[in-house]
Amino acid sequence: MKIDGGCYCGEITYEADVDPEKVAICNCMDCQRMSGSAVRSNVYVDESDLKFLTGKATEFIKTSESGHKRAIGFCGNCGTALYACNADGEPRTYGLRALTSNQRDQLVPKSQYWLRSRPAWFADLDSIPGLQTQ
Ligand SMILES: [Zn+2]
Ligand SMILES: [Zn+2]
Repeated sequence: MKIDGGCYCGEITYEADVDPEKVAICNCMDCQRMSGSAVRSNVYVDESDLKFLTGKATEFIKTSESGHKRAIGFCGNCGTALYACNADGEPRTYGLRALTSNQRDQLVPKSQYWLRSRPAWFADLDSIPGLQTQ
């Protein structure tokens, strides 16, 4: 499935050919802190199927508990989180932040990780009253 997308300010844009089955939610605490959100949804794509059209993401190198290095890519101008990937020199597999895509509604998560880190209130989101904003 062809997708395209980019960051909030428009400096970084990409297009990719992804498998819509490879969409997963990450509930880990690193994602929570880095995104400022309860959960993060990723679509996993090999570097050969992802092309950055404009701009270049700033990368923060994170060392995971297992010792692996991960590059966390974001827009240096507007701060939009764009991806995480291996940073060890091997061909990259990107966890592209699915909601930065213009086809976000079609990228429905099929699985989720780190459920034990999910905020307890998130499981019952529909019980929180909705306020009319528009
Ligand atoms: Zn930007
Ligand atoms: Zn995570």
